[in-house]
Amino acid sequence: LFIAFEGGDGAGKSTQVRLLAQALRERGRTVAVTRQPGGTELGAAIRDLVLHGDHVSPRAEALLFAADKAHHVDELVRPALERGEVVITDRYTDSSVAYQGAGRDLGAAEVHDLQMWAVDALVPDLTVVVDVPAAEGRRRRGGTHDRLESEADAFHEAIRQHFLAMAAGHPERYLVVDGTEPPDRLHDRALDRLEEMGLV
Ligand code: C5P
Repeated sequence: LFIAFEGGDGAGKSTQVRLLAQALRERGRTVAVTRQPGGTELGAAIRDLVLHGDHVSPRAEALLFAADKAHHVDELVRPALERGEVVITDRYTDSSVAYQGAGRDLGAAEVHDLQMWAVDALVPDLTVVVDVPAAEGRRRRGGTHDRLESEADAFHEAIRQHFLAMAAGHPERYLVVDGTEPPDRLHDRALDRLEEMGLV
């Protein structure tokens, strides 16, 4: 069982990942929690380079994040799934389609194809989009967005719309939750949906 959480900065994805992992462990499942970028040692180095290093050109950024995903899926996600574990990831391919494809104007379709190649077409059973308005995400982060070159709410609002569009395109494997609701309620919605789908 492979579950991804997606959404803008400050949406509260990490809290939801933690709550869901705990709930599934209480049900006796073995759960691997991971994140992208940065789920492996190589991924952590890539994360640091892109997010904290010198300027990385948009195409190089897309390729580095694709490399992070390829390695992550090969080394960690697929082996865990093959052992029958649950894998919950904090961000996955949709973040790249939204941030690199739409946010950086590389073309969502091209970045989507690149990502699918990188992960050898491994698609989550369920992707939960935690949706908050960009301004709310920024407020929760203490007034700033994470990345210097993307301070503007408009950039993050465009990202948000791309997450929503991806979810609307495949309602059978997406759940959109309103991230301004209390964390416990969001968690219940995710768990309910997994139950409805017969996945837990
Ligand atoms: O959510 P997390 O803290 O892992 O994300 C770190 C930052 O990396 C986010 O603020 C997001 O702007 C950026 N990011 C990105 N492209 C991705 C994934 C994350 O620009 N594919």
